[in-house]
Amino acid sequence: MTLANARSVAALPGWHHVFDAVPTPTFLKNQKHELIAVSDTFCELVGSSRDHILGYQDFELQSGECLFDSTAEQTTLKSGVACAYERELSDEDIQSPAGSRWLRIHLARSVAPTGENCLIGSIEDLTELNQANLSLEVAERQSQLAFAFDPLTGLMNRSQIEASINDCIDVSRQNDTSFALLLINLNGFKAINSISGHQAGDHLLRVCATRIRQVVRGQTAVARFGSDEYVVLLSSSDPVEAGRVAERINEMIGMPIELGGSRREISSSVGITMYPRDGKNCGELLSKADQAMHAGKRTKPSGYVQFFEPSIGREVERKLLLARDLVYALDQNQIELYFQPIVVHENGSDRVVGYESLARWKRGAHEWVSPEEFIPLLEQNGLIVEAGEKILRLACEFIAAHASDDVYVSVNVSGQQILDDGFLDMIDRVTKSTGVSHHRLALELTETLAMNDRSAGNQLLEKLIERGIRLLIDDFGTGYSNLSRLRQLPFSTLKIDRSLIRDVPHNRSDCAIVRTLVSMAKELEMGLVVEGIEEPIQRDYLIELGVNTFQGYLFGKPKPY
Ligand code: C2E
Ligand code: MG
Ligand code: MG
Repeated sequence: MTLANARSVAALPGWHHVFDAVPTPTFLKNQKHELIAVSDTFCELVGSSRDHILGYQDFELQSGECLFDSTAEQTTLKSGVACAYERELSDEDIQSPAGSRWLRIHLARSVAPTGENCLIGSIEDLTELNQANLSLEVAERQSQLAFAFDPLTGLMNRSQIEASINDCIDVSRQNDTSFALLLINLNGFKAINSISGHQAGDHLLRVCATRIRQVVRGQTAVARFGSDEYVVLLSSSDPVEAGRVAERINEMIGMPIELGGSRREISSSVGITMYPRDGKNCGELLSKADQAMHAGKRTKPSGYVQFFEPSIGREVERKLLLARDLVYALDQNQIELYFQPIVVHENGSDRVVGYESLARWKRGAHEWVSPEEFIPLLEQNGLIVEAGEKILRLACEFIAAHASDDVYVSVNVSGQQILDDGFLDMIDRVTKSTGVSHHRLALELTETLAMNDRSAGNQLLEKLIERGIRLLIDDFGTGYSNLSRLRQLPFSTLKIDRSLIRDVPHNRSDCAIVRTLVSMAKELEMGLVVEGIEEPIQRDYLIELGVNTFQGYLFGKPKPY
């Protein structure tokens, strides 16, 4: 910093003592902008002695700028309005290796001892404050990054991709172009996570993220959207390109991957929506991509690509409506029970030994909703426990009112009911209040549920057996039972699923499966019911195999009693 003008007037001797009481560098200037008094701290700051400084107007900085702002000084002198401005002093300006300083210079008008107007100024050092602000800015930027990206995969996170989709909508609307949104879901991820551990799960998520990135590269926005879900935004894209990219992503994800020391293969499912065809806003596009993905997962083999179609939307809409109406239906007892006979065929005649209760929902005046549609909805909406009790009560009322003492009634039970802590109490409560003895009641658990460790392991089944309640395995032949496992479980009867009976005796492989299941039941000394018998030829084929207990339209359709 060098002094910037020729010295012209004498200073105010002794005034620096007043200033020295103030710790910040302070100065006094006359109306010609000449320094007439300075504090010691000011001298330290500019690196010159007082004698040297007084009488000068300004200092030239290394940057070419001056330390003082003559315009600001002029304005304050004239108007009397205080002001402040900032200057950066380089380390050369202040001859300090510690680095540059950031200063704020405050100016105010005052009256000098000579009686004339003068400027009084003080210099505030903002260097540390600025550094603190800078770190704050860096921290803020980092937290913004954390806010925008998924820490596990480094991909965008949900809020960031939503912002990108909104931007893309704006651009596409202006340019009248289309774009595609791909929602990718890994199949069976939860199982891997719980079997191989979370570390393996995390590794898998990272590998899949990399593989998706490899397919799309460049400027394409890719996000991890949920636990095992990714979103790819293909701007200015058409369905053909979107489909191709989706298939390539499925291929890449399907490649073997090293997980916890072994090679695994995982598949993915992709749902695609196109802007503007399928939706006008981000929420709609994402939700329809999700619907498409789930619809495909249900109906197509793994590794498929499913574009959104209006029929998928209608199906989802219907589900939402049904779910809404179900609460009311339960309340209004719109769920009824039909009963279908289970017969023993002996010496050419049929004898009813039991009934299966089958739930029906009469929705409105004319519509009957199938249990295959509403039971899963009851489960999804947490209503199955409540509905299950009502169904059991109806079944028990039927037992009490109609069937003779040696006829049992079987009730289908869903997984959530079995896992509910109050299940056994509920059974006791309902049988007691309807006066039904336990031996007239049977419960049907699906094969998958029966084989499930949690339902088998909690001794609930034993307690049901102790009471004399029969336990049947339903839909047998559709799951993965094995003999040794079945032997450990207290089920008395297997019900062969109707899907295996449909093409018997014409379909050879179905016949082979049915024969195996029949001999499995014999081996285990378990009772056997074959359901779905519609034709005498089916019945006769099974009689030849040694089966005599049947259920099906041939013997009686489900009906109300
Ligand atoms: P499920 O327990 O295997 O019931 C047998 C199904 O086969 C019934 O369908 C019945 O009407 C049908 N069926 C019986 N005989 C024949 C036949 O000869 N041919 C054909 N094609 N079908 C026959 P439904 O009533 O539609 O019930 C479907 C499924 O819904 C049941 O399969 C069961 O899993 C579930 N379900 C029904 N009622 C209840 C219930 O109260 N609670 C629970 N949790 N599930 C239920
Ligand atoms: Mg059943
Ligand atoms: Mg069944």
